[in-house]
Amino acid sequence: MPTSKDPTDAPAPSIAHPVAPTATAPSIAHLVAPLLTHPEFEHDPQLPEALGQRRRPDPAQRLRRTMAPILDLEAKGPVLDPTVFRPLKLAGKSRLSHNTARYRLALPRETDSLGLPVGQHVSLAATIAGRRVIRSYTPTSLDSELGYFDLVVKTYDNGLMSTYLDHLAIGASVLVRGPKGQFNYSPWMAKHLLLVAGGSGITPMYRIIKSAALDPDDTTKMCLVFANISEEDVLLRNELDHLALKSNGRLEIHYVLEHPPPGWKGAVGYVTREMLEERLPTGGPAGGKVLLCGPPGMTKVVKGALKDMGYYVPRRPSMIEDDIFVF
Ligand SMILES: Cc1cc2nc3c(=O)[nH]c(=O)nc-3n(C[C@H](O)[C@H](O)[C@H](O)COP(=O)(O)OP(=O)(O)OC[C@H]3O[C@@H](n4cnc5c(N)ncnc54)[C@H](O)[C@@H]3O)c2cc1C
Repeated sequence: MPTSKDPTDAPAPSIAHPVAPTATAPSIAHLVAPLLTHPEFEHDPQLPEALGQRRRPDPAQRLRRTMAPILDLEAKGPVLDPTVFRPLKLAGKSRLSHNTARYRLALPRETDSLGLPVGQHVSLAATIAGRRVIRSYTPTSLDSELGYFDLVVKTYDNGLMSTYLDHLAIGASVLVRGPKGQFNYSPWMAKHLLLVAGGSGITPMYRIIKSAALDPDDTTKMCLVFANISEEDVLLRNELDHLALKSNGRLEIHYVLEHPPPGWKGAVGYVTREMLEERLPTGGPAGGKVLLCGPPGMTKVVKGALKDMGYYVPRRPSMIEDDIFVF
C-alpha cells in the first residue's frame, strides 16, 4: 500500500455540514411532483365509505411515504462531498492483526448510504501535533450497508494518521471527504480481472471483489494474488475465502507468503513473473485488466514483469481505460 500524501489533497480543507446538492440535473422531488398530482393517484375519501368498504390508504400518500427517505436525502444532500470535509463519528473498532484494525464510522442517519463508487476512496483529515494531515483510505464495506462504513487501517510506528486513528476514542469525530479516485468498477468493464495486492493494499481489491462476488448478474472472472510477510499479516482472509465460496467459481485466490509457517500449502517468496503469467487474463491485455496495489517494491516488480509480457504500463496516476490500474 503506497503512502498517500495525495497532491489533490493539498489545499487547506474547509469543514462544513450537510448542504443541499448543487447538481444541475432535475431533482428527484421535481421528477416525483407530477406523479403526486396525477389523476391516477387522486383519491375520493367519500367513495369507500359510501360503498360500505374499508377506507384504502391514499395512493399519493403511500408514494410520498415510499419516497420519503430519497426526498430526505436530497433535501439534506449526500453524505460525502468531494471538496468539503465533514465530521463523522467513530462507532466501533476491532483488531484484525497485531498492527491492523477495522474502524467503523457512523453515517449521520441509520438509513444513509456512503455513496462511494466501487474502486474509489475517501480522504481523512485531522490536526495532529499542530499539523494538518490528510490521508487516503478505501472502505471495505459496500454502499448497500447502511448507516456506517468500515476502514481497515494498518498502524505504522511513526505514522501520523494511522497512529491518530489507533488512539481515537469511540464517539470522537474524524473529518472525511470524497469520493476520490479514477477507478469506477462496473461488471461490464472486463471479462477477467487479475488483482495483485500486498499487505494493506488489499482494501481496494477487497471492495471490488465483494461487490462483484455478491452481484448475481456479474459474470467477471477474478484471480487474486495476495502477498504478505507472514500468515498473521493476511488481512480479511476469512472474508475473502467466504467470497470465493459465494462467487460460483468466479474468484480464485492465491496467497503468497515471504515467511510461511510449517506445512504452508500456498506460494512462498515474492510475487514472480511465472506466478503472474499463469494467472493473466486469457487473451492478454485485450482479455482483461490487471489491478495492482501494494508496497512500492512489489508494484515496481509486477509492473516490470507485465511490461515484458506486452502490457502497456501507464504513468501515474492510472486511468480507468489502462490495461494495468495501479491504486
Ligand atoms: C488510494 C489509497 C488508498 C489507501 N487505502 C488504505 C487503506 O484502506 N488502509 C490502509 O491502511 N492504508 C491505506 N492507504 C495508505 C494510507 O493513505 C497512508 O499512507 C498510511 O495509513 C500511512 O499514513 P500515516 O499518516 O500513518 O503514515 P505517515 O506519517 O505518512 O508515514 C510515517 C512513516 O511510516 C512509515 N510508512 C507509512 N506508510 C508506509 C507504507 N505503506 N509502507 C511502509 N512504510 C510506511 C514510513 O516509515 C513513514 O516514514 C491508501 C493509500 C492510497 C493512496
